[in-house]
Amino acid sequence: MSPRNKTRQVTVGNVPLGGDAPVVLQTMTSGYTHEVDKCIAEVQKLAAAGSDLVRVAVPEKKDTDALPHILAASPVPIVADVHFHFQRALDAIEAGVHKIRLNPGNLQDRKQVLRVIAACKERGIPIRVGVNEGGIVERRDKQQRAGEKATLAQDYNANLIRLMLDKLEEYLRIFDEADYHDVVISAKSIDPRIVIDAYTAISERHDYPLHLGVTHAGPPETGRIRSIAALAALLANGVGDTIRISYAADPVFEVEDGKELLCSLGLRSRTEPELIACPSCGRIEVDLFTLVSAVRKKLAAEIDIPLKVAVMGCVVNGPGECEGADVAIFAGRGKGIIYVQGEKKQTVDESQMLEALLHECRAFAARVERGEAKLMNASVEIAPPDPLPRGDGSLPLRVV
Ligand code: SF4
Repeated sequence: MSPRNKTRQVTVGNVPLGGDAPVVLQTMTSGYTHEVDKCIAEVQKLAAAGSDLVRVAVPEKKDTDALPHILAASPVPIVADVHFHFQRALDAIEAGVHKIRLNPGNLQDRKQVLRVIAACKERGIPIRVGVNEGGIVERRDKQQRAGEKATLAQDYNANLIRLMLDKLEEYLRIFDEADYHDVVISAKSIDPRIVIDAYTAISERHDYPLHLGVTHAGPPETGRIRSIAALAALLANGVGDTIRISYAADPVFEVEDGKELLCSLGLRSRTEPELIACPSCGRIEVDLFTLVSAVRKKLAAEIDIPLKVAVMGCVVNGPGECEGADVAIFAGRGKGIIYVQGEKKQTVDESQMLEALLHECRAFAARVERGEAKLMNASVEIAPPDPLPRGDGSLPLRVV
């Protein structure tokens, strides 16, 4: 991991973004903003899932009219997403939103952009300035459009990145001339390689905080890898101050995956249980997949400390992995052996493994909460047990 790039810092409500602030996780509601009660419920659900900011679309006046109610009920700062109608941006600012997302290329003229900038400046609200692969080619000027398309046809990726940078810098000049610097930049594409190269190029030329994202990534099943490939590469390289993963699905999945990505890279502290599980193989002698799935659901529902739990299918890799866990089970020949921080607690039949493991997790979590035990005690050491003989008297693979 490279150290984080030092960017300027802006403040979104009470959330610092950029500079030495932690990487901010954000998402966007999927429902209509003017359906106030539903929108508030969605914002609250996303905030409870771990989103630091929530963005809402405000395409119509009835959407900006809903903002005061949403702002009053939201536990996190709200970002207004504006396209085409600068009056919606002014209404949203007037309503008290904490940040505006604006693509200056979608506004009709420079005067409109300057009016939005002036309103944001007066209230100390940052603006995200975005360029997206999908909207990068000029729409209104036919001659310019034909020229840009011809250039892209020659070497699409390289010329697209150049075009994104050119347009972005054209927009940034407007902000610079207005002496407004509370800017966050995004440059999204559906292609992770373009996302990586575009943000890397921007980070080498500007010190504005960067909002990372892969746009139109699809449902989680296909969009997850595409998104994480780009965002992980950039974050590991120190690039990125806020992330939004975009799925064609309930945005709570965006928050869950974004949180896991930040925790996995050590950019956010885990607050919930972490489950380690083996992938299973030809040595497996219990129904591991069912056990793992049940353990995951129960831990998520019942434990709210970052307890590390390992579920391993046999003694080959089990002991090593279990050493790094607070509570661990390794199974074999219809039985499971449960350890709590290296201390062997129980050997149970397969039918009792779930309940016995959860019992030990609950008991250990309660001890941690009472201050009687600490999570991730580094002195744990588990010696592999002797393998149990098979029915024919032979021994399965012995661990040395
Ligand atoms: S822990 Fe055992 S069962 Fe699980 S994948 Fe490793 S060798 Fe296979």
